[in-house]
Amino acid sequence: MGLLKRVNRIMDIPMCTRCGRRPANYYRVSSGERLCLNCLFKSIEDTVLWTIRKYRLISNGDKVGIAISGGKDSLTLMYLLGKFRRQGKIPRDVELVAFSINEGHPYSCFYRMARVDYVQKLSEEFNIPYRVYTFKEIFGVTASDVAHGLWSRGGINVHMCTIDGVLRRRAMNIIGRQLGLTKIATGHNLDDEAQTVLLNVLSNDLDRFAWFGPRPEVDREGFIPRIKPPSFR
Ligand SMILES: [Zn+2]
Repeated sequence: MGLLKRVNRIMDIPMCTRCGRRPANYYRVSSGERLCLNCLFKSIEDTVLWTIRKYRLISNGDKVGIAISGGKDSLTLMYLLGKFRRQGKIPRDVELVAFSINEGHPYSCFYRMARVDYVQKLSEEFNIPYRVYTFKEIFGVTASDVAHGLWSRGGINVHMCTIDGVLRRRAMNIIGRQLGLTKIATGHNLDDEAQTVLLNVLSNDLDRFAWFGPRPEVDREGFIPRIKPPSFR
C-alpha cells in the first residue's frame, strides 16, 4: 500500500469511489459518489460532451455565443467548449464568441463576477472573442432607470431581479441578432433546472416548461435558440 493511501486510511479520509487511488474531495449528492478532483472534472467533461452529442446541440457552421455570468458554471462551459473545439470533439469550424451583460447597478450579477481576468485568459487561450455589453448601450436605459420608472408609478411591486432577468433575456436576443449567432449557450446545470421546475410548479406556470432541458423548444420570431450543455451535470 502506498504511503498516501496508508495516511488517508489512518486519518479516515474516504477515497475516490471512481479511481480508488486519490482521496475524495467532493461528495456528489445526486449519485452518492465521493470523487477526487481529477475524477470530478473528468465526469463533468464527459457529461457535457455526452449532452452535446446526444441532443445534437452544436453542429457544423454554428456560431455559438457563450453567455458568461461570471459564475463557475459559465466559466467551465467556456473552457470546455474551447477545449472540445480544439480537440475536434465539436466541429472545428464552429465559431465561438463569449459575452457578458452588465446590468449597470451595484447589485448586478456583473459586479458580483470577480473573474473577468480569468475570462480574458480563456478568451486568449482558446481564441474566443469576448465582449461586455451594458443595458445602457442596448436599451438606452439601465435596469435602475426601468425600476424607478415602474416604482414611481406606484403600487407596482417588481423585484430588481425580475427586471434584470427579463431585460437580460431580451438583451441576449438583441446581441445574438447583432452577432449573427445561431445559438446561445448558458451554463445552467442540474441544480438550476431543478429550481426552474420547482418555481414553475409553485407559480403554476406550466407553459414555462418549454424552457426546460438541454435544448428548450421555444421558437419565436427573433428568438435565438438556447442550449444548456451542462444541464445534466
Ligand atoms: Zn478519482
